Amino acid sequence: MTDSESCREDRAQRVYDLLLAEYGEADWRPRRSGFEQLIQTILSANTNDRNSGRAFETLRRRFNDDWDAVRTAPLAQIKEAIRVAGMYNQKAPHIVETLELFHREEGVYSLDHVRGMEPRAAQTYLQSFPGVGHKTASIVLLFSYGMAAFPVDTHIQRQSQRLGISGPRASAQKIKDLWEEAVPPETFFTLHVNLIRHGRDVCRARVPRCGQCVLRNECDYVAGSGAWREVKG
Ligand code: SF4
Repeated sequence: MTDSESCREDRAQRVYDLLLAEYGEADWRPRRSGFEQLIQTILSANTNDRNSGRAFETLRRRFNDDWDAVRTAPLAQIKEAIRVAGMYNQKAPHIVETLELFHREEGVYSLDHVRGMEPRAAQTYLQSFPGVGHKTASIVLLFSYGMAAFPVDTHIQRQSQRLGISGPRASAQKIKDLWEEAVPPETFFTLHVNLIRHGRDVCRARVPRCGQCVLRNECDYVAGSGAWREVKG
């Protein structure tokens, strides 16, 4: 391991510890199957969790949890059911395409077979589905199956860059790889949840509240020198 990697690991662990002390341990409890999580993630594009959750529940209720019925329904009925999530003209056909794919290729609306896969292989498999990127694949694996995948959204990307876990322009995929190498898999869920909470409340995109931040002693951004430290992505 290089000095830079060792330095990153130490800092990543301190970030985890400080956020754990601030927000506590997140309670992992799968709310949806992997397949349901995939549909929910399609609904979540450009809207908040509340609206995508309402759209998902309406869709389930309207079609009595029968995904075959959703697949064969007129698009207008699906759009109506998911209207609250917005962008329903795009999301409804995307859902039908996904259902068609599962119907044709898997013969079942389930992803439970990924449980037996090695996490990297499961990630690659999920990303082979149209429209499924590393974030969606990681969310399905971590949230539904508790597997070792670290989802990186815009909040986590921004904080990782500011903290110096990555370089200032590192991609979300690169940042995912860095966190997965730097902290143990059993910390992924709590770290993910706590970083998102911290990004929404404190390390905000436009005006970060550095004066109130428990991570300020670990942060390249607040050091204010403009020079990113040695820990680069
Ligand atoms: S010190 Fe400021 S920039 Fe750094 S993590 Fe905290 S809020 Fe974000």
